[in-house]
Amino acid sequence: MTTKKGFTTTILHSDRLTKPEHGALHKPIHTAVTYGYDDVQDLVDVFQNKKKGYAYSRQGNPTVSALEHKVTQMENGTATIAFSTGMAAIAATVLALIKHGDHILASSYLFGNTRSVFQSYMDMGLDITFVDATSIENVKEALQPNTKMLFVETIANPATQIVDLEKIGNLCEEKGIIYVVDNTMTSPYIFKPINVKASLVINSLTKYIGGHGNALGGSVTDTGLFDWSNFANIFEGFKTTVKPEVLGITQIRKKGLRDAGGTLAPEAAHSISVGSETLALRMERASNNAFALATFFEGHPMIKKVNYPGLKSHPQHDMATHLFAKYGALMSIEVDDSIDCLAFLNKLKLVIKSSNLGDTRTLAIPVAQTIFNELGPVKRAEMGIADSLIRLSIGIEDLDDLIGDFKEALG
Ligand SMILES: *Cc1c(COP(=O)(O)O)cnc(C)c1O
Repeated sequence: MTTKKGFTTTILHSDRLTKPEHGALHKPIHTAVTYGYDDVQDLVDVFQNKKKGYAYSRQGNPTVSALEHKVTQMENGTATIAFSTGMAAIAATVLALIKHGDHILASSYLFGNTRSVFQSYMDMGLDITFVDATSIENVKEALQPNTKMLFVETIANPATQIVDLEKIGNLCEEKGIIYVVDNTMTSPYIFKPINVKASLVINSLTKYIGGHGNALGGSVTDTGLFDWSNFANIFEGFKTTVKPEVLGITQIRKKGLRDAGGTLAPEAAHSISVGSETLALRMERASNNAFALATFFEGHPMIKKVNYPGLKSHPQHDMATHLFAKYGALMSIEVDDSIDCLAFLNKLKLVIKSSNLGDTRTLAIPVAQTIFNELGPVKRAEMGIADSLIRLSIGIEDLDDLIGDFKEALG
């Protein structure tokens, strides 16, 4: 037995454990769509889940598997399935595990597209309710006898609310509810949802894990904590062929990945794998930059409000300190009423006006006019999204250059 290595050492040396051809330091990019067997019995056994192997790349590919293994290690989980995007991972997880008549309880502070796909599922007859999950009392009140899944994010985008992750985990454990935590904003370097008893962990690999804005991807990781053997929605056919502990992940792979087909391409898996090697370094640097910038903004007379979990003024600051290794690299600010927020953004020379987050480069976007535009002014007001709200995804540039850029644009 080897002793468990540190976060970065583990990821850097993960591919070599399977001895890639010619001693390659990376898992090669396998582009084959299908895999052939000399003995047809081996192909049969792969189909019947009796033997490990690859048949058709929509539901498994060696390059993608190497990335899945890395994410599993990062999350201290038991297995991971990669998808073409974070949204594909979220849509497939619900599709695979939830049936008509079930209820999903979700945080009201959700990534916009997650909220939108949940609305589509509601239009198809699923019962989903949204609750302000920063208070455990709200969550308890909203539970129903048929609640099968509870879905939350770690740090919400754009206003950085943090739901009561720990107490919700205890509640889900007590009630036998699948607890899904979208860990995109924190990344497994800053926070491991298994520590708050998550059943499944979602990551948009597009963001911090890939980290360079050059590949889309998503994943769902089984933490091993949920008892799938008694879960009512497991397909009978799987119960006779796979072990109880992998029933959930098998169902997500078959029903969510195979049937819905949101497969991650091997080329993207390779880019994300390489990016993931420096996740810890980038998260340290970007979080430190974000902390310094949040402090700078909080002391600046032209900034009305700063939303950042690292600040003492943040409503869940103590929880963030208790649960997270760092406060992350996402924040939002409201500029003073005397400043036109779009004109201010145009004065920035270094910071890029762009959507996306988790890039190595610092990105800024006016929220009300873009990602929350579809909601309209009334809904935005209800959600506390001011017209002058700007979301910032802080990158790994040199801090003085970032502060200099904002100082000049505000001055
Ligand atoms: C971006 C994001 C997603 C979706 O990921 P894609 O890879 O863009 O599909 C899901 N959840 C959160 C919290 C995100 O920030």
